Amino acid sequence: MPRAKTASQSLKSFNPRTGEVRKEIPVTPTAEVVEVVERARKMVPEWASIDPAGRARALREVRHRLHARVDDAVRIVSEETGKTPFEALAYDIMPTLLLLAYFEKVAPKALRRERVGRIIGPFAGVTSHVDYRPFGVVGAITPWNYPLLNCFLAFAPALFAGNTVVIKPSEVTPDCGELARDLLEPLPPSVATIIQGGGDVGAALVDAPCDKISFIGSPKTGRKICEAAAKHLTPVVMELGGKDSAIVCADADLDRAASGVGWGAFMNCGQTCTSIERVYVVDSVADEFERKLLERLQTIQQGDDVGPLTFKPQLEIIKRQVKDALDKGARVLAGGPEQARKNHNGSLWYTPTVVTDVDTGMNVLTQESFGPVLAYVRVPDEEDAIRRANEDGVNLTASVWTRDKTRAQRLADRLRAGVVTVNLHAESPAAPWAPWGGVGESGFGRLNGIAGLREFTVPTHIERASGPNVGRMWWYPHDEATKVSMRALVDVLGSPETKERVKAAGTLAANALKSMKAKF
Ligand code: NAD
Repeated sequence: MPRAKTASQSLKSFNPRTGEVRKEIPVTPTAEVVEVVERARKMVPEWASIDPAGRARALREVRHRLHARVDDAVRIVSEETGKTPFEALAYDIMPTLLLLAYFEKVAPKALRRERVGRIIGPFAGVTSHVDYRPFGVVGAITPWNYPLLNCFLAFAPALFAGNTVVIKPSEVTPDCGELARDLLEPLPPSVATIIQGGGDVGAALVDAPCDKISFIGSPKTGRKICEAAAKHLTPVVMELGGKDSAIVCADADLDRAASGVGWGAFMNCGQTCTSIERVYVVDSVADEFERKLLERLQTIQQGDDVGPLTFKPQLEIIKRQVKDALDKGARVLAGGPEQARKNHNGSLWYTPTVVTDVDTGMNVLTQESFGPVLAYVRVPDEEDAIRRANEDGVNLTASVWTRDKTRAQRLADRLRAGVVTVNLHAESPAAPWAPWGGVGESGFGRLNGIAGLREFTVPTHIERASGPNVGRMWWYPHDEATKVSMRALVDVLGSPETKERVKAAGTLAANALKSMKAKF
């Protein structure tokens, strides 16, 4: 059991550009978490009884509140994460508005009762429909890299679907958690509650227990949550990390590819689950692509275009990975440890860096970096690129850069990843219209899209006898007519021989009514 924390404990909100403490934010004592979840559970019937259009109207108020506070939101996100104000606006706030606007539009239709099946044969005489019912209380546990978008991504579809939510934002960006709390103010009390704290508070939320867990974070924590959730058989959706790859083909538009790969690798200082961390470039264009990519990188201004890292342990990982690679014979093409802007008072700068001559003995090629480092790999051909993209590391997403649509599809079909993009990369978590999620170690379950909305529902089949005279052949008595009918039915359904099926259909017709009549 996690130890109870006292209410006097607090989280420090840092500014990673300066290393200054901005604020202290009280931690939710772990002992209070069960109570918070119980309050949320009491609100489920009321919130779920509002129809989806009514819930969408309530959530529209949240969207409008974010718009009204946009300047504050940009300042808080930017100060606490170190990202530039443009990055906060474009990558956190704009996609959060888009996410809410999308679900407001589609949720009422996607959650409507659905008629299924025109049922014939053994199940004749019933009508079936599916109701998309909420689970109850969804616990959302979220990371720091997009403290607003990833927070809303994890819980907003659950709210639209009629669940209440308890949200544990990252302890690294607690002031963004307070911002989310303020934005959720228009909702009825206990429909969406923010609790603050570290892993122990997250663990208490999983153990409360909740009725579903929506997790965005590292595979390591994901595993722990799966184990803890298994104790209560709580279903989970896991959005985890990866080591995303991009493949640059010989026929790629190299200017576009250099621009897209440069952005996909270094935006948000590489702290994106979908950042490009490995690029495989076909040899025949590798020199030219390298030149164009490095030219692009020279235009990125550290400070104005890209900020520092947000979280100190992340800086340590990057330093370790680059040092390990250089010690083992890798070469720096751009940036590198020597170039790093000097860090004072605990600020967290690291220059966008490209390393080459890397191999699978180096973590920089195989393990998630989650920082501004790109491994540049030359390959003889596309075959090798596909093999290495699938084998060197885990893709959450992967991209193909080519002018040829047929080639793009052919290569995309063979990439093992939750999302595959063509001549684009890294923007898919912000695309609310399509399912978002990983494969294998990069996660399971889906957020975004209709699949993401229904992820937070229990599709409940309601089956109804269409009239009072509808009998069931398998009810008692199991008389001769019943046995003959059932055997004939099996032949109708399974026999490959037309003659046998026709004969069986006749037997069924002759005996079924008699069998039914004896039932009631
Ligand atoms: P993390 O796993 O360290 O923490 C995520 C959250 O889990 C935090 O709120 C943390 O307090 C909480 N937590 C820690 N231990 C816990 C426990 N035992 N029980 C319950 N909760 C616990 O991840 P992070 O450093 O915040 O985020 C970076 C990781 O997230 C990277 O691996 C990145 O790729 C991944 N990520 C994935 C996506 C996606 O959509 N797939 C999006 C963003 C980030």
